[in-house]
Amino acid sequence: MPEKLVLSDAEWRERLTPEEYEVLRGHGTEAAWTGCFLGTKEPGTYVCAGCGNPLFRSGEKFESGTGWPSFTDPVSPDAVTERVDHSYGMRRVEVRCARCDGHLGHVFQDGPPPTGLRYCMNSIALRHVRDEASLADAIATPDRTDQP
Ligand SMILES: [Zn+2]
Repeated sequence: MPEKLVLSDAEWRERLTPEEYEVLRGHGTEAAWTGCFLGTKEPGTYVCAGCGNPLFRSGEKFESGTGWPSFTDPVSPDAVTERVDHSYGMRRVEVRCARCDGHLGHVFQDGPPPTGLRYCMNSIALRHVRDEASLADAIATPDRTDQP
């Protein structure tokens, strides 16, 4: 399990776009059908947009029809942490990045085999990485590549 990444609120605001901050640190949810990874079938790995922690493999991604990218399983059980969330009068299980504690989405028990789980994720909380070399890069330098 990668080393924990702990930053102050100001550091997170600096590192993330306002939209990323709203989801990852503010526990927001992007609007359904707006996420950039919705139809993505590219092979590779989805890493945390906040810290580069590898979270899901493209092979575990499936079309859930919900409007958010969905996965049956994280790359490893310790890639994410899960906690019960009672907000909005619902009992849901929140999924967070195990490295930076960023909010990723929720997990539901209505997914396809083999796990029967549906990890319902926010695209904006994820970044797609194609190969192993870029994966090592993502975790070493999690800052946005489009910054000067
Ligand atoms: Zn993270």
